Amino acid sequence: MRRISKETKIGNVKIGGNNPVAIQSMTNTLTKDADKTIKQIHQLEEAGCEIIRVAVPDMESAIALKQIKENMNVPLVADIHYDYKLAIEAAKYVDKLRINPGNIGSQEKIKAVADAAKEHSIPIRIGVNLGSLEKDIEKAFGLTPKALVESALKNIKLLEDNNFYDIVLSLKASDVPKTVKAYQIISNLVEYPLHLGITESGSLFSGTIKSSIGIGSLLLDGIGDTIRVSLSADPIEEVKVAKKILESVGLRRFGVEVTACPTCARANIDVAKIASEIEQKTSSIKKPIKVAIMGCSVNGPGEAKEADIGVVGAKGGHLLYKKGQIVEKISDDEIIEKIVGNTK
Ligand code: SF4
Repeated sequence: MRRISKETKIGNVKIGGNNPVAIQSMTNTLTKDADKTIKQIHQLEEAGCEIIRVAVPDMESAIALKQIKENMNVPLVADIHYDYKLAIEAAKYVDKLRINPGNIGSQEKIKAVADAAKEHSIPIRIGVNLGSLEKDIEKAFGLTPKALVESALKNIKLLEDNNFYDIVLSLKASDVPKTVKAYQIISNLVEYPLHLGITESGSLFSGTIKSSIGIGSLLLDGIGDTIRVSLSADPIEEVKVAKKILESVGLRRFGVEVTACPTCARANIDVAKIASEIEQKTSSIKKPIKVAIMGCSVNGPGEAKEADIGVVGAKGGHLLYKKGQIVEKISDDEIIEKIVGNTK
C-alpha cells in the first residue's frame, strides 16, 4: 500500500497523490555560470531526470536562474540556505524552493519567503539534514531519527504559522537506518509529500548501495514521492541509479531492463558480454521491455518466460523466447541481433 500524500505541483510535474515517484538530481556546476549549468541540465534531462535542483549560494547565482529556467524543460528547484533575499529573488524564476526555515532567521524573513513562494505559486521543500540540525534539537535528542523528525515538525510549523501549506519534506542523514526510521515516523505524522535520499552517501559504488537500500526499503514500504540518489560522481550516474531503484521495486519502467544470470560452470553462452552489449545497444529505447539472458536451462526457461524477449543458452542451439514461448533455436552470433531487433 502506498502512502497517499497531498498532491503538489512542481512546475509541470505533479508529485504526491497517485503520481509516479519522480526522479530528481542536482547540478554540480557553478550556478552563476549559466551556460555550463544549462549544458549539464540538458545532459540530465537527456538521461531521464524529471526535476533538477541547483545550489544558489549568492545573488549572482539567483539572478542566473532566469536564464537557466528559460533554457530548460523540466522543473527547476533552487537550493538556498541562510539568506532570505536569495530565496525571494529565486522565487521569481524557479518551480520550487528548498530551504530550512530554521536557518533563514527571524519570523519576518521566513514570512517574506513564504509570501514570495505564495505569490509565485511554488512549493517549498523543507530539507532537514542530520549534519545541520538546530543546536537546541541536537542537544535535546542527539543525532537521532527523533531529532530529524522534531526538526521537520518545527520547520513545518514555521511555515504553517505563515499560512503556508504547499510543503514537501525531506529528512536526510548519511546513516541508512537512521534515515529510514525518520521517514517512517514522519510518514505517519503529516500528509505532505516526501522527497527521499541518503545524504552524502559517497562514491558511485558505496553511494549506490546505500541509496538503494535506504530509498528502496522506504519505497517498498509505500513511502516516498520523489527521490534523489546523492553520489560523489557525475550527476548523470545519480539518474541512472534512481531509475534502476524505481524499476527494481516495481514502481516504474524505463526502456529496456536486462535480467541476466551470474553464470556458472553450466553456462553455454557468454552472459556478461551479451548482457552489457544489449544494454549498450538498447540504451536509447524508451519503450519498457524486459530482456532475459540466461546461461543454461536450470533457471533459464522460468526467467525467459517472465521476460518479453529472452535467450537461454543450450547445447545444440540456444533457445529464443518471445512472450513466454520458444520461437526458434539460434546460434552464438545471432543472439545480439535477434534480441536487439525484437526490442524495436
Ligand atoms: S542459469 Fe544456468 S548458467 Fe546461469 S547461473 Fe543458473 S545454472 Fe548457472
